[in-house]
Order: sequence, then C-alpha cells, then structure tokens
Amino acid sequence: MLGAQLIDGKAIAADIRRELKEEINQLRKKNVNPGLTVVLVGDDPASQTYVRSKQRACAEVGIRSEVKMLAKDTPQAELIALIGELNRDPQVHGILVQLPLPEHINSDTVLRVIDPLKDVDGFHPVNVGSLWTGLSEQGFVPCTPAGIIELLHRTGIEPTGLNAVVIGRSNIVGKPMAALLLQSNATVTICHSRTRGLREYCRDADILVVAIGRARFVKGDWIKPGAVVIDVGMNRVDGVLCGDVDESAREVAGHITPVPGGVGPMTIAQLLRNTVIAARRTL
Ligand code: NAP
Repeated sequence: MLGAQLIDGKAIAADIRRELKEEINQLRKKNVNPGLTVVLVGDDPASQTYVRSKQRACAEVGIRSEVKMLAKDTPQAELIALIGELNRDPQVHGILVQLPLPEHINSDTVLRVIDPLKDVDGFHPVNVGSLWTGLSEQGFVPCTPAGIIELLHRTGIEPTGLNAVVIGRSNIVGKPMAALLLQSNATVTICHSRTRGLREYCRDADILVVAIGRARFVKGDWIKPGAVVIDVGMNRVDGVLCGDVDESAREVAGHITPVPGGVGPMTIAQLLRNTVIAARRTL
C-alpha cells in the first residue's frame, strides 16, 4: 500500500530550470552571460558522473560551463593557483571544486581559497557564517539543503512550529539543513552516529531529513504517521540506487521523496540557481 504522497523532485527541478532559462535570457540582454567552472581532480568515476550531469544541466538552461580536469597527483599549490586565476576571471561567475579531493590535498584549505562571491557550493566559511547568522540572502547556501527547502516550499509544506529532525551532521547536508529549517521557524534537532534513542527522535519528527549514507536504514515504524520524510541518501545496493529510508516508510509518512527522483535533481537545480545569482550580483 502506498500511503504517502511522493514529492516529485524531478518535476519541480524541471520547473526551476524553466524559470532560470527565462532569467538567463534577461541577463544576456544586459550583457551578463552566466558561467560556471568545475574543477575536477583525479578520475573518480562517481565524481565524473556528477560533473557530467552538472554540465548537461548547465547546457540545458544556457549557462556556460567549463571543466578543468587535473591529474590525481596534482600538487595542492597548483590547484590553489588555478582557483586564484578563476577568482580573477570576470567571465567565471561560479567556481565549484568537485569533492572528494585526493588524500594529499586538504579540502578545507582549498575551499577557503575560492572567492566567497563565486562560491556556488556555499562551503566557504564566509558563506557558512552568513547562513548561521540569518544573512543567507547575501551569500550562498549549499545546494542540497537549499534544494530541500525549495521542495518543501513548492509542495506547500510550511515548517513554522513543526518538529524537524535532521539525521546527519555533515557540512554539506546535515548542518546547513538544520540552519535553514531553523531559519524557517521549525524546532530543530540534529542527530548523528552517537545519538542515543534515534528512533524516539524520529517518531517525534513532523519533518524528518535523513542524510547518513546507509541504505534503507530508517524503517517505517520509526516514522510519525503523516510526517514529511526527506531522503537524501544515495546508496548503491547490487547496482541499484536507493536511499537511507526503507520503502516501509511510504505506508506511514504523509509526504516522502523517492530515490532517485527526489532530492538529487533539486541539488543540481540549486547549483544552476546559485550560478545565476552569482552572475546577477555582478550587475
Ligand atoms: P557524511 O559526510 O558521510 O555524513 C554522514 C552523517 O551521518 C554523519 O554526520 C554521521 O554521523 C551520520 N551517521 C552515519 N551513520 C549513522 C547512524 N547509524 N546513525 C545516525 N547517524 C549516522 O555524508 P553526507 O555527505 O552528509 O551524505 C549523506 C548521504 O547523502 C550520502 O548517501 C550521500 O551520497 C547523500 N547525498 C546526496 C545528495 C543528493 O543530491 N541527493 C547530496 C549530498 C549527499 P557522525 O558525524 O557522528 O559520523
């Protein structure tokens, strides 16, 4: 039995791309031609796939995109020098360094070198600070959590006053997700691998965001009936993509995002949006 309404991230992302296309046409009339440069170090197949889908999405809406491919053994100083060049290039509005980086490179150091005004991933401490001080309109918000807030908004779910539980505390998903839900007036709890009584926290959640990277980890009987469940997980089991939430949750939740076709397309749509914002701010 399918009780929950599926939140169609694919369709909502397509709507956003249509809106962005229109905005890009307007920017072009003002001689601003949005451009994104992705830096890929090494030959990790998953990263290559993500980069290709980002390029396809850019092409679809009319964003110029370029990929700078660096060998796996590129010295950190060389990568930093390249980012410096991109920071100075007025044709480049957004810079994205694809993670993970090879082990000999310190990601924190590299991410801090990106000009915060071009940091379309929203990982620079200046942008993280803007988010937590409620000034996210002035900076950039990480794409996955920003895409999730947009999904809630466009599905007519208003977080004000609701109990929101985020499982996962990464800088990429969990922490910025919690900040945005807080900004949306939810009462927020962050859980992680050391949390005691995880199921009880889940059962209390009106909005449950699961971002842990463990296939089908959260079960249906952990979910509060009617809750909104956002499954961020992307796990491969026997070659099949699945989320962090078990199928059984669909019988209990009120709304749920599918994997694939839920959060994933929204992450890319938000990257495009951040690039357009970066370009618009140059005016
Ligand atoms: P991450 O950096 O590995 O963080 C995982 C988090 O989950 C950590 O905070 C960890 O807690 C917590 N955790 C792990 N096992 C747990 C458990 N048994 N109980 C409670 N918490 C647990 O991962 P991430 O980058 O946030 O990504 C999470 C998932 O989302 C992955 O599957 C990733 O592929 C996916 N993802 C999807 C998108 C998308 O666009 N759809 C984007 C980004 C990520 P500790 O901090 O205590 O270790």
